[in-house]
Amino acid sequence: MRTLIIIKPWAVSKGLVGEILSRFERRGIRLAGLKVVKVDREKADKLYAIHKGKEFYDSIIKHITSSPIVVGVLDICIDDPGGAVRLVRKIIGATDPAKADMGTIRGDFGLRIDRNVIHASDSTKSAEYEIPIFFDDNELIEY
Ligand code: ATP
Ligand code: MG
Repeated sequence: MRTLIIIKPWAVSKGLVGEILSRFERRGIRLAGLKVVKVDREKADKLYAIHKGKEFYDSIIKHITSSPIVVGVLDICIDDPGGAVRLVRKIIGATDPAKADMGTIRGDFGLRIDRNVIHASDSTKSAEYEIPIFFDDNELIEY
């Protein structure tokens, strides 16, 4: 099962990319695709479409478009697709870094909820929506 992750601008600027990716690699989760991207407003609006109208919308759009991000597609080779999404969400931790458990990515790095280090698809449906925003099929490798 494939899911999208985004290492957000604050984390990229702090040099945390390798540390964050290694959390997934060490679990045996494979990278099917990876790239550095400067997100334009159009892609940002598409990614965060479900949050349009919320009070924090402008703040997350401003952050995600502020400087380069790293987008990755993770391949989680277990039988249960829902379980795969839940595993990735468990590795990243709760949305608010102040509430995220230590040992999770958000619990170990970052401070502010609107710059919370990493995004991950929250369902198989959202993964199917989010991956094509950043990757063409031929950029994803199965191995
Ligand atoms: P993500 O979608 O980035 O993986 P999430 O699924 O844990 O995060 P969502 O509810 O989808 O959380 O919120 C999307 C993003 O919006 C969060 O990652 C966070 O950066 C920001 N956000 C969420 N709630 C707030 C809030 N109350 N104030 C400011 N920013 C927020
Ligand atoms: Mg979300």
